[in-house]
Amino acid sequence: AHVITSACIDCKDGACTQCCPVDCIYEGSRTFYIHPDECIDCGVCLSFCPAEAIHEDVRLPASQAMFLAINREFFSPE
Ligand code: SF4
Repeated sequence: AHVITSACIDCKDGACTQCCPVDCIYEGSRTFYIHPDECIDCGVCLSFCPAEAIHEDVRLPASQAMFLAINREFFSPE
């Protein structure tokens, strides 16, 4: 799945939500989140994010690794 990382926090441009073909990008209070089970990995959102905050999970920079869990936990809080 694709993952939204720190650059989205308090930016929240939102262009990604318009381009996602399966509407799997959801709004939180300070950032957007991608639903990991709904994302079809089409990659369309990558070119729409002005902050370059979205990465494919397998290409996530090491410094952003925690956002894999952060995106998932937004949808399934324990
Ligand atoms: Fe939506 Fe495609 Fe981006 Fe996944 S990769 S969040 S399906 S636009």
